[in-house]
Amino acid sequence: MMEHAVLERPQTEADAGAAGPIHWPHVCDDDLERYYLGLVTDESELAILEEHLLACAACVERMQETQDYVDAIRAGVIQGGFDSEPS
Ligand SMILES: [Zn+2]
Repeated sequence: MMEHAVLERPQTEADAGAAGPIHWPHVCDDDLERYYLGLVTDESELAILEEHLLACAACVERMQETQDYVDAIRAGVIQGGFDSEPS
């Protein structure tokens, strides 16, 4: 009923019990990417993301995957010269 758009699978009871009462949805991949790129400039959004990452090992793990992904994309853009940006 109260769920927002949760891209991750719902938490199991075991997860909730281990990490305390977490009522927020997991950080989605898009937000992790924006956070890593420094595109999250809204202070309240940033605070929520950072707070979640402090408490949620699963999202930290996914963020590391996101970092690898982003770095790969960046490397590809630099080396391959994809014309994503007209310059
Ligand atoms: Zn999470």
